[in-house]
Amino acid sequence: MAERFDAIVIGAGQAGPALCARLDKEGLKTALIERKLLGGTCVNNGCIPTKTMVASARAAELARRGGDYGFGSGSVRVDMKAIKRRKDQVVRHSSENLKKWIAGMKHVSLVRGQAAFVGRKRVRVKGRELEAERIFINVGARAAVPDMPGVKEVPFLTNSTMMGVDFRPPHLVIVGGSYIGLEFAQMYRRFGSEVTVVEKAPKLLGREDDDVAAEIRAIIERSGIKIRTDAECMALKKKGKRIAVTLECKGGKPVAEGTHVLLAVGRTPNTADLGLREAGIETDERGYIKVDDECRTSAEGVWALGECNGKGAFTHTSYNDYEIVAANLFDGDKRRISDRIQTYALFIDPPLGRAGMTEAEAKKSGKRVLVGKMPMTRVGRAREAGETQGFMKVLVDADSKELLGAAILGMNGDEVVHSLLDMMYAKRPYSTIQRAMHIHPTVTELIPTMLGDLKPLE
Ligand SMILES: Cc1cc2nc3c(=O)[nH]c(=O)nc-3n(C[C@H](O)[C@H](O)[C@H](O)COP(=O)(O)OP(=O)(O)OC[C@H]3O[C@@H](n4cnc5c(N)ncnc54)[C@H](O)[C@@H]3O)c2cc1C
Repeated sequence: MAERFDAIVIGAGQAGPALCARLDKEGLKTALIERKLLGGTCVNNGCIPTKTMVASARAAELARRGGDYGFGSGSVRVDMKAIKRRKDQVVRHSSENLKKWIAGMKHVSLVRGQAAFVGRKRVRVKGRELEAERIFINVGARAAVPDMPGVKEVPFLTNSTMMGVDFRPPHLVIVGGSYIGLEFAQMYRRFGSEVTVVEKAPKLLGREDDDVAAEIRAIIERSGIKIRTDAECMALKKKGKRIAVTLECKGGKPVAEGTHVLLAVGRTPNTADLGLREAGIETDERGYIKVDDECRTSAEGVWALGECNGKGAFTHTSYNDYEIVAANLFDGDKRRISDRIQTYALFIDPPLGRAGMTEAEAKKSGKRVLVGKMPMTRVGRAREAGETQGFMKVLVDADSKELLGAAILGMNGDEVVHSLLDMMYAKRPYSTIQRAMHIHPTVTELIPTMLGDLKPLE
């Protein structure tokens, strides 16, 4: 006999616990199934630990730059065990809070184990069978391991195993020059490792505008990180105590050697072992669960939220999926995935804050587009802080005067971009920002000036 619930949530990631809180509030008897760590990727081996380590790396860098600010701190000695301890403490704080939150939900039972569908509304976990009319999948994704020669013979690190590292790799080779790879690259360079980034494509961060990607490359290279783009036919090889990543680049030595290799080449959804076929749930060719604009799967009464639905690869997109599902189910509020505006940050230093369209997307939209750009050297607050790398850029619809996109690559760019993002949601013309009085001295106060000098996008 299967145990009956009103709802089952599979995965305690970024949508699952919040959804459970709402199901609890509605008085629905709910089972939350988690096979590993509460809080999933973000809490345990994604956002929270990496941003904690990014903070340590930034502090070390500022100490090294003491002379620029008029003080001397001697030579900087990085203690990797202490950095890991600090990271573990911050992670523990989040996961313990989450544990308490879930334990306080009256109608929610936490079930530990790997869940898989055994029928349309039925799930098996550790020999138990659970049944519910509503099932919510929040199983996330994991680091993809590319099928490259040598990958089975040579030890490599992923974002998850990096979390256990309490030493400084003498030379870290990072395969993948995108968001995750670059955050680790700068962090470990600042901890004192030699770092080489190997990227298959001709540029880093393939989805970003060329000027943004080029400026980020310059920032990264300025810190002494070596970058090899156009790397084709990659393979891993052991070379005594060292590891070599062979590559055929258009120029330079066709090999990158180091002591440790981190693979950061994308993510794979955790859907292969979920028994989706048993429940009539369709996936795409990459294994992402197909959903409609309200996160409903092809099976009636089953929703998929977060990274596993392929509609977003961030904590905020997963949480937003929860908000959409809850609004539609309980509030009579027709919220939709297609209503959201893409936004994210790359947490290098200085960070990149992005909102809305890139230049390529704006051009494709068929709109008449205006662009405004300002180097951070013109921002007083950045000069005062001695952090003038990067630039700000904004895209505007020449006809409606609404903002289409923004890239703030510079000091506080991850925060500043929200002032533009909120204006996009409000659908207000950019002149609204120009009429607002901003605080001096801030980065944001220069946005109206940038908007005062718009030119047609070529
Ligand atoms: C290094 C790194 C840094 C990142 N930094 C950021 C950042 O700064 N900002 C940001 O927005 N995003 C960041 N991300 C992305 C972010 O962490 C993920 O997009 C987010 O965690 C996805 O959330 P989710 O709810 O889809 O699933 P997850 O958080 O991945 O949770 C899924 C949960 O489901 C469980 N599970 C899986 N299968 C089963 C099963 N069959 N049965 C039971 N349980 C199961 C898993 O154990 C896991 O706990 C980062 C990712 C990485 C790797």
